[in-house]
Amino acid sequence: MNGDRSIIFSGSLLVPSGPSSVHLTPGTVVVEGERITQVRVGAVSPSPSQGGEDSLILPGFVDTHLHLPQFDSIGIDGLELLDWLESAVFPAEMRWADPDFARDMTRRVADELYSFGTTGIAAYATSHAESAQAAIGVLGEVGIAGYVGMVLMDQNAPGGLLVPASAGLSQASSLRGHGRISPAVTPRFAVSCSRQLLKGAGVLAARTNWLVQTHLAETRRECELVRRLHGAVTYTDLYRECGLLTPRTILGHGIWLDDEQRVKIGTAGSAIAHCPTANRFLDAGVMKRYEAIRAGVSVPLGTDIGAGPDRSMVRVARAAMDAAKQAGGPVPDAAELWHQITAGNARAIGLRDTGVLEQGAFADLLVIRPSVRWAESRDPLGMLLYAWDDRWLRSTYSAGRVVYRAN
Ligand SMILES: [Zn+2]
Repeated sequence: MNGDRSIIFSGSLLVPSGPSSVHLTPGTVVVEGERITQVRVGAVSPSPSQGGEDSLILPGFVDTHLHLPQFDSIGIDGLELLDWLESAVFPAEMRWADPDFARDMTRRVADELYSFGTTGIAAYATSHAESAQAAIGVLGEVGIAGYVGMVLMDQNAPGGLLVPASAGLSQASSLRGHGRISPAVTPRFAVSCSRQLLKGAGVLAARTNWLVQTHLAETRRECELVRRLHGAVTYTDLYRECGLLTPRTILGHGIWLDDEQRVKIGTAGSAIAHCPTANRFLDAGVMKRYEAIRAGVSVPLGTDIGAGPDRSMVRVARAAMDAAKQAGGPVPDAAELWHQITAGNARAIGLRDTGVLEQGAFADLLVIRPSVRWAESRDPLGMLLYAWDDRWLRSTYSAGRVVYRAN
């Protein structure tokens, strides 16, 4: 621990410029204990404790959709979503029946996240209550901010992963937060949940006001199956009728939606976690980010590991740029995407005191030393996004404590 001594970070700071944009400016961030106590822009400090003229000081990245038990299942290719779940993901999640395995794996995952600059998350565990609680314990202990949910599922998966609705809801509701990690209501998706379970999850969300995370309309085959299983007017209406579209809901993917459904999601104040690297990997389709935003939906970004192969939020941001070009319509600029993977993603999942370099925020900070001459570029943030190399990340700080340092 650093105790309460000051740490002086200096270099080019990534700071807000407008509600959904950022820019780089020379400056200094003073950290005392867990928090940022001062941000001074104007010049790089001559002898900082961290950083220097050639360094960038960024807020830690926030990943709004990932699966903790799937970090060992990256890259199992050639399968459609439902087949991939059955043959790659469910066997991996079965291993979490052992809470010791879950605890050890979560430790590895936390190290991995920090080594890619991620300091905030909205994550799925599995349907094993004890293991979900163990994951909350580990992540809370190491200082990551965000959410972990016990996955609710009572149909269409191996028996070892299914928990009857009433038992699952009761177990999920007894989860307790630890450190900066809170529990989340996490019905996997409508394929693996009965109507009773979805409704119960809606009741739990209303009672606790917890974050809600689930998947929506990732592939056409999934949408067709949901129609057969639930006979709903639309997939979105099914969640709405079950009380799952809340201002604290993060819907993974939302690819196969029409405008009417997007407007309903926007009106409810729910967000869609756009996971472009996962969509590309599973060949699920191209999410129309701009159309969701036009319908009033907040669209944060997520890795969706293990469907998503990239652990770096910067590479996810770059893939979002590629997906937007493919989808047609306006393409975000680099400043918007750097904002998205920091403050934008933090706000989307309700983390108010991270993702930004400002006085009073948690000192979740990255020290980055790029090997490219970004300062001479006409578009420095574009160059940094496209030329990004994880080796540039020199150290990661979580709440003022160093949690990763490059060799
Ligand atoms: Zn997912």
